[in-house]
Amino acid sequence: MARAGRLVKPASQDLIRLTVLRTARLSPHWVRVTLGGAEIDRFTPMGYDQWFRIFLPLGGNDGLERIPAKANKLFGYLRYLRIPDGMRPVMRNYTVRAYRAATATAGAEIDVDFVLHGSAADGTAGPASRWAETCEPGESVVIIDEGLAFNPERGTERVPLAADETGLPAVAGVCASLPAHATGIALIEIPGEDDALSFPHPAGIDVRWIVREGDEKPGTLALSALRTLPESDLAAPFHAYVVGEQALPTDARRHLVGDRGLDKDLVSFCGYWRVGASSPTPKAQLASAAEAHE
Ligand SMILES: Cc1cc2nc3c(=O)[nH]c(=O)nc-3n(C[C@H](O)[C@H](O)[C@H](O)COP(=O)(O)OP(=O)(O)OC[C@H]3O[C@@H](n4cnc5c(N)ncnc54)[C@H](O)[C@@H]3O)c2cc1C
Repeated sequence: MARAGRLVKPASQDLIRLTVLRTARLSPHWVRVTLGGAEIDRFTPMGYDQWFRIFLPLGGNDGLERIPAKANKLFGYLRYLRIPDGMRPVMRNYTVRAYRAATATAGAEIDVDFVLHGSAADGTAGPASRWAETCEPGESVVIIDEGLAFNPERGTERVPLAADETGLPAVAGVCASLPAHATGIALIEIPGEDDALSFPHPAGIDVRWIVREGDEKPGTLALSALRTLPESDLAAPFHAYVVGEQALPTDARRHLVGDRGLDKDLVSFCGYWRVGASSPTPKAQLASAAEAHE
């Protein structure tokens, strides 16, 4: 995962057990899973693009019970890998799309928006995408807070933002956290017109949806749009933020720093996924995906 060096750490990286409260299909490629219950009070919202590791109970709840502390760090991860294949939960990275504090009648909630890619029906979707499409209220998950990748100098209020669909929750979170007088451009590439999930943003941020129409590699169109931004859109002081398929943030950063001569500290970037490369998946779950595909 390519990422900027200056991350903002979370309040705590303890394991937090949460429950699926409900799910909602938002569009052809989006499902929202709302988490809460259990240990939600131990979660500290930070706004912006706050992200977390999520452990999905694809091998049953026994696997969740065995996740070691610090499973996101080297030694904890090695202990996590010792959970037997078939029971080991799948670990993936997702973003807090929205956080709602507890009220007098309801506990706090976190919305997580999952991109549906491939197809759960024929087994071509990744395990997280498949889980999001089929999970039920009452299922348990575990998360570890990872904090923020968006980390501008204090007081920076102009933001070119660029993302593919996986970065839409992060861009929406950044826009929700910026001051109302912030300005900038958000270039968001999506698989289809119906996947343009509108979100509140400062009036001065020009949100431009870019719809893929053919077999373009995800991120290519957002990168082209960024490359053609006039210099006036990138006049300091500002902070750029680019996330999505690996090539988008790496090529965008190379363009902004190499071709446009921007200071590298003015760009936060993070590779969210890679075409053709799965995040690590237990063998047993690969096997069940292959069977579903037969
Ligand atoms: C910090 C961070 C925050 C993220 N936040 C979000 C978020 O809020 N919402 C979200 O949907 N994603 C988010 N992602 C991306 C998500 O973690 C990946 O897409 C993840 O690989 C999906 O896991 P999977 O099990 O479905 O597929 P995997 O098992 O990882 O991959 C299986 C196959 O699917 C392909 N693939 C993976 N993701 C996609 C995709 N999005 N589109 C097309 N093909 C894909 C892979 O190339 C591989 O061939 C985030 C990533 C990071 C690093």
